[in-house]
Amino acid sequence: MKKKRLFGTRGIRGPIDVKVKPELILNMGLAIAEYVKGGDVVVGRDARTSGEMLNNAFTAGLLAGGSNVVQIGIAPSPCVAFTTRELGAKAGAIITASHNPPPDNGITFYHGDGTEFISDDEIAVEEILLDKQPKRASWDSIGQISNYDAIRPYIDAIKKHVKIEKKLKVVVDCANGAASNVTPALLRELSCSVTTINSHPDGHFPGRHAEPQPWNLGDIMRVVGEVGADFGLAHDGDADRVAAIDEKGNFIKHDALIALFAGLAVEKNGGGTVVTSINTSTCIDTVVERAGGNTFRTGLGRFTEEMLKHNACFAGEPGKLVFKDFGIWADGILASAKLAELVAKEGKKISEIFRERVPDYHMFHQDLACPDEKKQKFVSAMRENIMARVGNIKDTLEVDGLRINRNDGSWVLVRVSGTEPKARVVVEARTPDELERLKEIALDEVQKFFKQ
Ligand code: MG
Repeated sequence: MKKKRLFGTRGIRGPIDVKVKPELILNMGLAIAEYVKGGDVVVGRDARTSGEMLNNAFTAGLLAGGSNVVQIGIAPSPCVAFTTRELGAKAGAIITASHNPPPDNGITFYHGDGTEFISDDEIAVEEILLDKQPKRASWDSIGQISNYDAIRPYIDAIKKHVKIEKKLKVVVDCANGAASNVTPALLRELSCSVTTINSHPDGHFPGRHAEPQPWNLGDIMRVVGEVGADFGLAHDGDADRVAAIDEKGNFIKHDALIALFAGLAVEKNGGGTVVTSINTSTCIDTVVERAGGNTFRTGLGRFTEEMLKHNACFAGEPGKLVFKDFGIWADGILASAKLAELVAKEGKKISEIFRERVPDYHMFHQDLACPDEKKQKFVSAMRENIMARVGNIKDTLEVDGLRINRNDGSWVLVRVSGTEPKARVVVEARTPDELERLKEIALDEVQKFFKQ
């Protein structure tokens, strides 16, 4: 496969003064208009300070290329995907850099059915943009702009899709991003009592770093306990992701959330396949197998594509959950409502629901500095050196780095980041001793490789 030149694992992202400049985004508008051959394109954005600037540049490019633009303003990524499908548009675009720092921005594209562009689409768009002059519409075929209130139909569609049978108390943290005008309103309309933090759109991200990881979520963990909430929900900047906090203020692991919903989807489906990424816990496999299904792992960023290929009933990677009967896109807002639905239905504490349904295995993560020039040799060196020492190997997976699965359910993953000069080591085991042993082997071999 050809290598991507502008796009990363999800759309284009980077600093607005170096990479994601308005002139690039204007040309991207021209290229997309040519790629989708006219028609309507839905355009939304997150709350970044550069959002409006890039929105206008992108819109100018689309119009000049002959596409019509449906402006929906600040809206979460899943709302853009939903609106694109509902309006029968040719494509959708969200101007977002997800959880990247405030100086960054970017853009991600959706097909007419709400599925994200895959690598083949992105490479084709790059070829139009970089290798030839994108076509321009003549003076009498320039596109037109319309404005559309996308939030209301999206909220209404989720309300039709979930039922919350009990009044719940929920804390919501929108990272000052695109969900600020959506998740709190939705949950209130579903009769929850909602306490919000960081829930006004603000591109300075005054509240916290936008990545919903436990080290960024100290405030919501504390507030959940203080107000006596049933649970907490925390989004990233564009709300394709959500993380959950239990009633005691503890972070619920991303993989446990995948496992819970994957198990429910398989139960409902009477078996079937669940797609997840190479870096997730075997707690997913355990829950899915119990429900009568099987788990398929792929590289990061490829879960919706593989979901369609395998006709899977559920897909998820850490923080991102795809509910097939609503739409084939990661939807942190629908996931929030679904979690509330489940907690209300079960009538138990959320920590109890997870304790009963999802096993908690011992896991270790570490990132190590990895210069780009060492990346290419990394996996082959690891293959030679780690495998023999790890032992008791069941199988290996090399879709994105190297994951060594062992017969006792433990595994080691070594991979390099696609976007940063880093190598990542992940180890999981069923006992603390085994975790310690595997962790030492993995770190020892990785460090030896970097000393060479
Ligand atoms: Mg995101």
